[in-house]
Amino acid sequence: MTTDPRLYLDQELSSAARLPLGREESHYLINVMRRSAGDTVRLFNGRDGEWRAEIADANKKHAMLDLAEQTRQQAGVPDLDLLFAPVKRAKTDLIVEKATELGVKRIRPVTTTRTQSERINEDRFRSIAREAAEQTERLDLPEIVPLAKLDRVLDSWDETRTLIYCDEAGDDGARPWGGDDGRAAAMRDMLGGPGPAAILIGPEGGFSPQERDRLRQLDFVRPVSLGPRILRAETAAIAALTLWQSACGDWS
Ligand code: SAH
Repeated sequence: MTTDPRLYLDQELSSAARLPLGREESHYLINVMRRSAGDTVRLFNGRDGEWRAEIADANKKHAMLDLAEQTRQQAGVPDLDLLFAPVKRAKTDLIVEKATELGVKRIRPVTTTRTQSERINEDRFRSIAREAAEQTERLDLPEIVPLAKLDRVLDSWDETRTLIYCDEAGDDGARPWGGDDGRAAAMRDMLGGPGPAAILIGPEGGFSPQERDRLRQLDFVRPVSLGPRILRAETAAIAALTLWQSACGDWS
């Protein structure tokens, strides 16, 4: 079953109208998806639900669409943010793509003491998130928040939002990753309760002892364990988002 191509289009989607496509969208639709005049396309803009449209002019640079009808009502995702320390580029890209599929509302990269890469490419994040949203049948795009220092983010935290802190460490500084004593409670047992949430994932080297001490003292923070093994940051992000969506989000 071939599904019609799905495009995010930042244009008003209202009653029948003729919509011009930019070069990028025209190229994708006509050259990559090899669609022609008369073919159907599905459009969303994050506000007006999903609409069916037909290709009126299959111009490779300036295609035109005729909007037909709304096929899905607008629906959002749960109010869940992902805070993560950027890791190597390919793995960071994976985190952005999977977070989009797993229905986060905001993607919030943060720099921590041990973060390797101090910069991110917001445009690349937006393009990855847009492609993932088109593929995953989302009706909105996750918001990409500019990179910020974790300490500053915590200083100005909205305390109505629970921060689920994925803490890989134990309390014994002399053992790798702090050993087993003092590990946080299992994430499954720390979930529940309505309200906005956020998940925090650290960098390749984990969080510093100072970061861990500060986080564990904050009332809005819930330290959680993702089990006895040390997961790669991208694995931890996917696992934590999955657990949260299944227990608190829109998977039920
Ligand atoms: N060295 C590995 C992983 C470092 S830990 C790498 O190269 O990616 C990366 C982050 O994943 C941690 O800061 C924590 O937020 C999360 N994490 C990994 N394993 C975890 C566990 N067992 N419990 C809780 N969080 C974990």
